[in-house]
Amino acid sequence: MKNAFHTSIQYLKGVGPKRAKAFNKLGIYTIEDLLYYFPRRYQDRTKFSAISQLQEGQNYTIKARILARGQRQSFRKRGFSITEAAVADGSGKLFCVWFNRPYLEDYLKVGRELIFYGKVERYGNRLQMNSPEFEFVSGEDSADTAQFVPVYPLPEGVTQRYFRRSIKQALEEFLPRVNDFLPYDIRAKNNLLNLARSLINIHFPENLRMQKEAYERLAFEEFFLFQLPILLRKAKKKARCGVAHNIKGPLSGAFIRSLPFKLTAAQARVLQEIIRDMASPQPMQRLLQGDVGSGKTVVATAACIVTIQGGYQAAFMVPTEILARQHYINIKNQISKIKDGKDLKIGLLTSSLNKKEKEKTYQEIEDGKIDLIIGTHALLEEEVEFNNLGLAVIDEQHKFGVGQRALLPKKGPNPDVLIMTATPIPRTLAITLYGDLDISVIDELPAGRLPVKTLHLTRKEKKKAYSLARGQLSQGNQAYIIYPVIDESYALDIAGAKKMYERLKAAEFKGFKLGLIHGRLKQKEQDLIMTQFRKRKLDLLVSTTVLEVGIDIPGATCMIIEHAQRFGLAQLHQLRGRIGRGSKESFCVLISEAVGSEESAARLEAMVRYADGFRIAEEDLKIRGPGEFFGKRQSGLSELKIANPLTQMHLLKKAREALQRLIGSDPRLEMHQNLLLKERLLQRFPEYEQLMLVG
Ligand code: ADP
Ligand code: MG
Repeated sequence: MKNAFHTSIQYLKGVGPKRAKAFNKLGIYTIEDLLYYFPRRYQDRTKFSAISQLQEGQNYTIKARILARGQRQSFRKRGFSITEAAVADGSGKLFCVWFNRPYLEDYLKVGRELIFYGKVERYGNRLQMNSPEFEFVSGEDSADTAQFVPVYPLPEGVTQRYFRRSIKQALEEFLPRVNDFLPYDIRAKNNLLNLARSLINIHFPENLRMQKEAYERLAFEEFFLFQLPILLRKAKKKARCGVAHNIKGPLSGAFIRSLPFKLTAAQARVLQEIIRDMASPQPMQRLLQGDVGSGKTVVATAACIVTIQGGYQAAFMVPTEILARQHYINIKNQISKIKDGKDLKIGLLTSSLNKKEKEKTYQEIEDGKIDLIIGTHALLEEEVEFNNLGLAVIDEQHKFGVGQRALLPKKGPNPDVLIMTATPIPRTLAITLYGDLDISVIDELPAGRLPVKTLHLTRKEKKKAYSLARGQLSQGNQAYIIYPVIDESYALDIAGAKKMYERLKAAEFKGFKLGLIHGRLKQKEQDLIMTQFRKRKLDLLVSTTVLEVGIDIPGATCMIIEHAQRFGLAQLHQLRGRIGRGSKESFCVLISEAVGSEESAARLEAMVRYADGFRIAEEDLKIRGPGEFFGKRQSGLSELKIANPLTQMHLLKKAREALQRLIGSDPRLEMHQNLLLKERLLQRFPEYEQLMLVG
């Protein structure tokens, strides 16, 4: 039986092939698409404002009659028209103005009564609405006369009235033929409205309470469908058989004892969580969250040692060559300090190796000679074949695409997987997005760390920043100055790292040893500069964002970020995370234009105010919204049209609990009451047919 909801929009009464095209442009192809195109707001038709009561700066809905209208050309811009109408409602007069929409004149007939919605401005003693939305007052159509009338986000040329009528038509014609795919017991348990009543009330609410119930049901539904495939995938992965690692061998204990510091309580706890997973034959799928500088690397290294002591290989993938080399040097050094550690072989694989070096490394990985391989995306090359990969670590996961992350573990028979990120997010959100992973959090920094002092200066006050940096250098500390670009741009008025390096060397930082690093330098040159800086042969590093992730040089205590308004909040936090890694007090100076956008001001303000990555992530989420924050396509969050994971955590949790019960009792969705849900899932993700057969 074909689901009536999947009927093409063109078969809806009053549409037809030509008008269907206009719907298609809005992403509406089927009746279902149409009914899931939700209103942006509602107009309360019982409450029109009187023109005499309007305050400037506010939004109002008014009902008024057109007194006069006219059209003129703009003097400033050629070919640009301005349409004006004077309207009145008995209490007062108002002007409405539209820009470059000449065809509006046909609608604005003198004497006609219309409903206008928009923001009121005042110009002298004249009240005006700029580009207000407007529509006809008409008695004949119930879609327009209810108390709450939906207002949809529509482009030019599709009228609210026509759209409303189409929705009404679709509801009347198709709702009686549609069954709710959410199983009854889930609806009952969570007090959810059924689908038909929800769709009616989201479009044409009987009253505000029903609108709210409809909204909750549809948001629950979105969260539910969003998490369903994620949780099915998790159940499937858990059912596989992987490696039960030897967690009792001598090497792992010796490694922890050989460290020059004691693990923080949080590191120790998280390591236990990881080790417990590794002991079990179920493949580990764990996400390790920890703020910049919280010491994730050493935890991951310990997991690698556990892997090796049982005779398996470990792979450690990072997003940049600089970071790969740093990890390689540090880990090799740490391991050399353990008793029997010298027998362990660590390898490095990046794309800048020459052909011969690469081939040698491939061979050693394949023969099992290399126990731990550290590398970049180069690890994903087809030529890389492991002898027996037991653990895949992915550092700074947000720098990899979803597909790339999945590739490394495919190089072994169900290896354990540890994914690391320094972008901590609220827990409920994390389990939604990364629902197929278990989550560990390092919520503590090593003892003795001081929060970085952060200042925000304007470009005019730049000298202060340089003098602060000079002060730090004179005390034997090191510093970074970050630019958004390599080459300056006159058009955008941005300074670039290359020119500034020359200038700073000759002027403000004369007498100090400066280095320049950016992504266009050859890998060998970048390595050389980093080594010199690490060995304190350089005082100051002028850089672009190649240093953004992972770099760990405890001697650096100062960072100046120029044109800071051009960076995102997460990026600024990552950059700032390069300092404050030792026990000395560190300083970060953000330099920006005096006036920036509101959003960039909010970002810089958050940086000054908060040091904690969790707080910053929350602010960032608030400023940008979840879709932008996680990257639209990557996270799939754009599928959430009305559900908001930040403000509706309770619904999100309920949906998750319902899913866990459902998958626990019917993992293949075979029971009679779950068949419609299964159909709904397969319609969106046909590949789950396969998954459910196996799972
Ligand atoms: P991130 O979590 O940002 O990857 P790293 O693993 O690079 O952090 O660690 C930051 C610095 O802290 C490194 O220099 C590391 O050696 C050091 N470190 C890690 N754990 C501890 C600890 N328990 N006590 C003191 N220093 C530590
Ligand atoms: Mg790191």
